[in-house]
Amino acid sequence: MQRITVAKGDGIGPEIMNATLQVIMAAGAKIEIDEIEVGEKVYLAGNTSGIAKESWDVIRRNKIFLKAPITTPQGGGYKSLNVTTRKFLGLYSNVRPCSSLHPFVSTKHPKMDIVMVRENEEDLYAGIEHQQTDEVVQCLKLISRPGCEKIVRYAFEYAKQYGRKKVTCFTKDNIMKQTDGLFHQVFDEIAKEYPEIENEHWIIDIGAAKMADTPEVFDVIVTLNLYGDVLSDIAAQIAGSVGLAGSANIGEECAMFEAIHGSAPRRAGQNMANPSGLLQGAIMMLNHIGQTEVAEKIQNAWLKTIEDGIHTYDIYKEGVSKIKVSTSDFAKAIIDNLGNEPEVLKAVSYGNGGALKLPKYVRKPAAKKELVGVDLFVHWRGENANELAEKIKIIGTENVKLSMITNRGIKVWPDGFSETFCTDHWRCRFKPVDIKTINKDDIGKLLSKSYWVGLDVVKTENLYEFDGKPGYSLGQGQ
Ligand code: NAD
Repeated sequence: MQRITVAKGDGIGPEIMNATLQVIMAAGAKIEIDEIEVGEKVYLAGNTSGIAKESWDVIRRNKIFLKAPITTPQGGGYKSLNVTTRKFLGLYSNVRPCSSLHPFVSTKHPKMDIVMVRENEEDLYAGIEHQQTDEVVQCLKLISRPGCEKIVRYAFEYAKQYGRKKVTCFTKDNIMKQTDGLFHQVFDEIAKEYPEIENEHWIIDIGAAKMADTPEVFDVIVTLNLYGDVLSDIAAQIAGSVGLAGSANIGEECAMFEAIHGSAPRRAGQNMANPSGLLQGAIMMLNHIGQTEVAEKIQNAWLKTIEDGIHTYDIYKEGVSKIKVSTSDFAKAIIDNLGNEPEVLKAVSYGNGGALKLPKYVRKPAAKKELVGVDLFVHWRGENANELAEKIKIIGTENVKLSMITNRGIKVWPDGFSETFCTDHWRCRFKPVDIKTINKDDIGKLLSKSYWVGLDVVKTENLYEFDGKPGYSLGQGQ
């Protein structure tokens, strides 16, 4: 018996959750339920995170959380509960299977069967943003080695457990050589530990185009948070409908399961919504807690029901569907089909199931870290980089001097092009003169001199080498 936390959410949430729970209980799921309130009511009662402290205690005690969609009220500084939950509970892995149900649900891709594994905590989603000048704001993209190792290993272990043949990595490391470069490098390292599973890397733009055109060539796809966010919705939509996909958010201790769609407020209370997305989430939950046979039984009954042409309004199609049913009648039809298997669609078999057992991340020995320069970011409203260079050279010291200025990453001094458009945000790179490394005191001197000459330094970024390898990118055109 497994105790789980359930939140029925907002909009269509309660209807689809009730349908889902009826099906899984009828199939023999061995679960006990603690229900908590999250979402709109909690937000509007003045709690900007959408969840009360006592509810966190329940979630953390039970560790398994089945959540219906919630409505995040517009404006008012309300924080997305999904993002908060993923981060607080360390749910680093977002898993979203997207397979077509051809010929029973319309799709241009009848053979599609993809599992998207998306990194769930890092990347631009750290939400660290700053306005630095009148014209420029920035968002920090943070990628960590533990983050990359955990998600890439998860993708390979998932492929191993569920008999998948290939893992594809999507990055943009031709441009982001440090951040996406690390993700790709870790992928190559870990792929070697799984010789039985094919591996490949695609640059995200052409990879995404290929996925939208010929998804059947992909199996498991692992990628960074932002790319995964966008691609997993595309994958679900082109497989048939976003209303049919569920997702698992997995951490080292806790896990949350949900539908990928939202609370569809306009459909609320009409007993019309398709409960399939949440049911798919619940099936992943049952697999995760080791109740694999129950998970298989439900999935096969669901496939059979879809195959029987018993469809909710969103996937109903004249000539293909046989009967348009309500949320509750769809659930009843699945229950009636428990024990049956699909005849045209492929019946599932989940093998041993259970939570994937991944090793804890072990921190690597520290590298030799040397300070080899500094970038000063300057707010300056002039237009000519040569003029700025003359002003800035003055702050150089006996140890460090100005070596380059870029604007939005492109080199504008020395030897810039007059055609290059410049904003009021300039990166001024200082490198050592006749020595290899500098120390923090050199940076202090640069900053204090810049203050005295009236330069508006809005940020500094230290340039390091790690074991002799540069830990920073060159200017574009350098
Ligand atoms: P939505 O997913 O709720 O709806 C998009 C469209 O899909 C609508 O036409 C809706 O009727 C339809 N739809 C969605 N689920 C369906 C289902 N199960 N059966 C039939 N039709 C379905 O997206 P939205 O309208 O952009 O967002 C509505 C609310 O949901 C917003 O407050 C948003 O913040 C929230 N939201 C929550 C989650 C979550 O809790 N995980 C995810 C996305 C959006």
